[in-house]
Amino acid sequence: MYLKLKKISLDLIVPVYNESQSIQPFVKAINNIFKNYNNIVINLIFINDGSIDKTLLTLLNLKKKFKNITIINFSRNFGKEAALTAGLHMSNSQVAVIMDVDLQDPPELIVEMIQIWNKGFDVVLAKRVDRSSDTFTKRITSKLFYKIHNLLADIQIPENVGDFRLIDKKVVKAINTLNEYNRFMKGILSWVGFKTFIIEYKRNKRFIGATKFNYLKLLKLGLDGVFSFSLTPLRISLFFGFFIASISFIYLSIIVLKKIMYGISAPGYASIISCILFFSGIQMISIGILGEYLGRNYTESKRRPLYIIDNIL
Ligand code: UDP
Ligand code: MG
Repeated sequence: MYLKLKKISLDLIVPVYNESQSIQPFVKAINNIFKNYNNIVINLIFINDGSIDKTLLTLLNLKKKFKNITIINFSRNFGKEAALTAGLHMSNSQVAVIMDVDLQDPPELIVEMIQIWNKGFDVVLAKRVDRSSDTFTKRITSKLFYKIHNLLADIQIPENVGDFRLIDKKVVKAINTLNEYNRFMKGILSWVGFKTFIIEYKRNKRFIGATKFNYLKLLKLGLDGVFSFSLTPLRISLFFGFFIASISFIYLSIIVLKKIMYGISAPGYASIISCILFFSGIQMISIGILGEYLGRNYTESKRRPLYIIDNIL
């Protein structure tokens, strides 16, 4: 494919955590594709997210061979969201592409993304049409997550769109103005807006190594997504409170009327116990929701940096 383009510069932002085996094939794949495009100057920005294997060594060895590699070395593991943030802070090219190192995101797609960007789009998203490479449970839970998130949150995140995307420099700048601590990148990337195009692709299986996200981590990420972009859970508990209070008032009126008309009747143990249990449950949930927001406020108010860089190589 020939690209009729002026010379453009592109930053490839790649977070890596214990990926010593995946990095070399990744760099090879990228170089194989981009050696055909002299007009694209590509910078590889690897964020070493506190890896404890030979990731850094592998990166340093590659850097000797390829001058276009920058390594941001974190002082410990801060998570993928923080790593992406650091990469975007570092980026200074005309376009940035965010991608995983495990080649689940096919690098060939970047060329297509650049062509679309060249037509005047600021964001080019890659949507997975086929998730057969994921397990059944992961497919179901992720579907459920998108449904719940988009129902509750103030922003819509497109279904089956991961972090893999191309963004223009002005979008990078916009994202970098958001300095919140609870960082759900998919939400932040959607929140800034801009002219967006979605391309579809088939997501490959991870060819080497294992996923770094277990279900607990995914659940935490999912909760971050909802609570960082919506006050709806608070409102739900408020409306639910009103609703139950109204029903209770009607029920109360019936009981009072019954008492006036027929006097006291003793039975009621079962209904009292179920009411107590039910309402305690509701109250605990409401307090929990309140606590989620309060906790988030607490971490935000500390204004801790999102990541600590050991060194940049
Ligand atoms: N990753 C990271 N920090 C972490 C976890 C993951 O930088 O704490 C990186 C990882 O090395 C990979 C990308 O994020 O390049 C996606 O991770 P993974 O492939 O495990 O996620 P999945 O594809 O299973 O969602
Ligand atoms: Mg992966």
